[in-house]
Amino acid sequence: MKIRNPRSGQADYEIAPFSSKAVEEEANRLRGAQSDWATKKPEERGAILLQWADAIEADLSAIIPALTADTGRGGISKIEAAGVPGQIRRWATMAPQLIAEGQPVEQPTSVPKITTSTRLVPYQLVGVISPWNFPMTLALIDAIPALMAGSAVLVKPSEVTPRFIKPLMETVRKIPELAAVLSIIEGDGATGSAMVDQVDYICFTGSVATGRKVGEAAAKSFIPASLELGGKDPMIILASANPEKAAATALRASIVNTGQACQSIERVYVAREIAEPFLASLTAQAEAVRLNHPDINQGHIGPFIFEKQAKIAQSQIDDAIQKGAKLITGGTVENLGGGLYLRPTILTDVSPDSVIICEENFGPVIPVVIYDQIEQAIAQANDSIFGLSAAVVGGSVTEAEQIAVRLKAGAVSINDGSLTSMVWEAEKSSFGYSGLGASRMGASGLMRFFRKQALIRQSGEAARIEAFAEENF
Ligand code: NAD
Repeated sequence: MKIRNPRSGQADYEIAPFSSKAVEEEANRLRGAQSDWATKKPEERGAILLQWADAIEADLSAIIPALTADTGRGGISKIEAAGVPGQIRRWATMAPQLIAEGQPVEQPTSVPKITTSTRLVPYQLVGVISPWNFPMTLALIDAIPALMAGSAVLVKPSEVTPRFIKPLMETVRKIPELAAVLSIIEGDGATGSAMVDQVDYICFTGSVATGRKVGEAAAKSFIPASLELGGKDPMIILASANPEKAAATALRASIVNTGQACQSIERVYVAREIAEPFLASLTAQAEAVRLNHPDINQGHIGPFIFEKQAKIAQSQIDDAIQKGAKLITGGTVENLGGGLYLRPTILTDVSPDSVIICEENFGPVIPVVIYDQIEQAIAQANDSIFGLSAAVVGGSVTEAEQIAVRLKAGAVSINDGSLTSMVWEAEKSSFGYSGLGASRMGASGLMRFFRKQALIRQSGEAARIEAFAEENF
């Protein structure tokens, strides 16, 4: 399978997707090693993962260029790859205590002489299917806590961004105990589909359309699915907000990583009182944004990683304009040296039935809607099939928070945007079509990989059938 380079547009890489047979064999190999892994103390698993963190750090010079070629952006690839050892160390250090707290020792019950305790039993094999927008982070975000729980893990990153897999697997192979229970494989949708049939728990991050297929397949196999899907995150800007600062926040939260982030701000609702200075500032700041072309080490935003996404972004802009929207700046995908770039794009007077208001854009596009009454803004922000996250910016945290709690979203950034990308502690559910299953953030990110086994001890006399004789009642 030929893989396109997002900066040159050339197919300069190839993968051999795992067949269903190869997936089955790999799943069996991992299962075979899992019971030894699960028998280790959490601290022992942690020590092995700490070695892996060191190995990744030592090989960043091989991983970062591969991830950069995958994504066409420089600085964010460095942050992404260099952040992984920190995530591993955090889970390796924290998990033993969380696991201990989750297994209460012998407790009395409401029945005399019967006591109970809980054992946490990890799912044997966890599958992870991940997308192309943060290829390495999202391949590992679920895999690391699953390994700490004692599961074996099979990961399939997106076929759009597979170059980082080989150097990353080199680091895994350096630690044989880890290589026995962790495999990161190349593959496409068919590989992903085959995986769902082989694992005991599936973690999927990607689009709603594929998430639905994965959820249905998981339901048929009676396995739990954590589905982390798309969003159409709204930002409400209150009349009390500072227009220049609100514009800076809206811009950054909408266009960082070229808008290719699930938690990107995708719609902005601004109070009429400050709409004019807000839009003037937003436009000036947007026009000062530089593409990182031709020099990847200069500028702010890179090319679209996935060619198809550039087409989707353009068609949504065209649809909005056709339905009466006014284009303030940007608006046209440019082909620069084979890469597809879009300057920050601002639209106003966008009709609520425009595709760009309803469906995920995943590009650096900001549709701005002016509201007169806050109730209007809340209603419009909540009028979506999605509910991943949202943001409210106001003159004070207290004021913004009063609006935040009325939004239908799993996480709301207050006086900022897209904060879910910066904190791991905040447990959150995905509302609506944005996903299903336990939070991947916070302690639940680890605890969801356990089933609870109750051990119920009778230290008195077990009841006999005579106790149930009808004459006794
Ligand atoms: P996608 O759904 O096209 O692909 C995701 C993964 O699914 C890929 O690895 C792909 O090979 C695999 N796949 C395709 N068909 C499959 C099938 N039938 N069975 C199993 N696996 C299959 O998504 P994408 O375009 O790679 O990613 C972009 C989407 O991901 C956006 O919607 C974005 O919002 C979402 N996303 C969500 C989060 C989150 O945390 N909620 C994070 C990042 C991205």
